Amino acid sequence: MVRSLAQWTKTLSFPARISPHKTNAAPPPTCEGVFRNAPVASHEEIYPDPDSEKAIMGSIVYCIHHKEGCKWSDELRKLKAHLNTCKHDAVPCTNKCGAQIPRVLMEDHLKYTCPQRRARCEFCGKDFTGQTLEAHVGSCSFEPIYCENKCGMKVQRRHLTQHKAAECSKRLVPCRYCSKEFVADTLQTHHTKCGRFPVACPNRCETAILAREELDLHLKEKCSSLGMSCAFKEAGCRFKGNRYALEKHLDENTKQHLVLMCSVVTKQQHQITSLKSALSRLSLNYSGTLIWKINDYASKLAEAKTKEGMELVSPPFYTSQYGYKLQASLFLNGNGAGEGSHISVYIKILPGEYDALLRWPFSHSVSFSLFDQSPVPEKACNIVESFIPDPTWKNFQRPSKEPDSLGFGFPRFVSHEMLKKRHFIKDDVMFIRVKVDPSKIVAV
Ligand SMILES: [Zn+2]
Ligand SMILES: [Zn+2]
Ligand SMILES: [Zn+2]
Ligand SMILES: [Zn+2]
Ligand SMILES: [Zn+2]
Ligand SMILES: [Zn+2]
Ligand SMILES: [Zn+2]
Repeated sequence: MVRSLAQWTKTLSFPARISPHKTNAAPPPTCEGVFRNAPVASHEEIYPDPDSEKAIMGSIVYCIHHKEGCKWSDELRKLKAHLNTCKHDAVPCTNKCGAQIPRVLMEDHLKYTCPQRRARCEFCGKDFTGQTLEAHVGSCSFEPIYCENKCGMKVQRRHLTQHKAAECSKRLVPCRYCSKEFVADTLQTHHTKCGRFPVACPNRCETAILAREELDLHLKEKCSSLGMSCAFKEAGCRFKGNRYALEKHLDENTKQHLVLMCSVVTKQQHQITSLKSALSRLSLNYSGTLIWKINDYASKLAEAKTKEGMELVSPPFYTSQYGYKLQASLFLNGNGAGEGSHISVYIKILPGEYDALLRWPFSHSVSFSLFDQSPVPEKACNIVESFIPDPTWKNFQRPSKEPDSLGFGFPRFVSHEMLKKRHFIKDDVMFIRVKVDPSKIVAV
């Protein structure tokens, strides 16, 4: 770059120590002073002759950038050459941004201020020119910025919407129970007061969960565990209370409850007994005919032979549904006249349910049959004995509560000899039929 002398002589200064006017007491003149005070003159007037021009060009001057810190000082004629390298002299930006920049500042300019410099966004890492970066900063989607809700969080610009909608502790969220809106970080506190917040009934009734604001009314009027009865209510305990009171009551009244239970058990035993007798009444035989099966004949006979008066008794039976109650008895080793040689059979009249309505004395014919269990039924020959009661006999009067031990019958029904013949005893079993017939007046 070429400059005219006028351009830089304005700021020229001459060091005092090497001034050509050393003898002059006045401060060293500057070129500025020299030229400013001079009248407007032609080139010839300024440089009247080559000698004086030579003298001026040989004068010692400072660099025009002396004030900025350049220490250069030499003859005026060398100034132009110096300025081509002076680090304080301005040159056009090498990036062609158009600015004039002192050489010494060029590096900084290129790096930091030149609008044409290459620059990288520190947030997104993309490349820009200095100029476009300035516009980019402030809108870069990767730049962390403070949340506008003042939650204290810094979030990348691109995540801000999502943060405010879903994460920000200062965002508004509706309470899931009452639907009113609250700042997110106060929701927890709100839940401790929210009227619609679900709570459990402290009485642990079956209404397990209800809204907090409904609890009072529930406890006062609706809670089903109010006035619950003691588990031993059926046994006679009259206690009522809520669940807690009930638990306490049960703990403290074990003995009383046990006493109640004992009386329940006793009552039930009576019921069982009466049920049993009702059941046996139902299974009673009301047909007037008893087929009596005697098992284990041999061992029972052996026992009868050693035990005097051993009597087998049949199940009781009725002559009809509302008739006389009878029972047969059997002495395998005989009784009375048949003792030791015969089997004896008798019939006894037992006190029955309908005795008050029946005719007395008992006057139906009674027959006893010993079955021949022959494998050929046609050849079977049963032994039958029967009688018509004698009305004068005491045995046939209405029985008292404690009937006679003996009835009426046949002490010599079948002899032991006869029993061995035929098939009266088969497989150690004997069958005797007792038949009461109200229509027959003649014994068969
Ligand atoms: Zn310089
Ligand atoms: Zn530049
Ligand atoms: Zn960026
Ligand atoms: Zn936030
Ligand atoms: Zn709520
Ligand atoms: Zn409740
Ligand atoms: Zn109780």
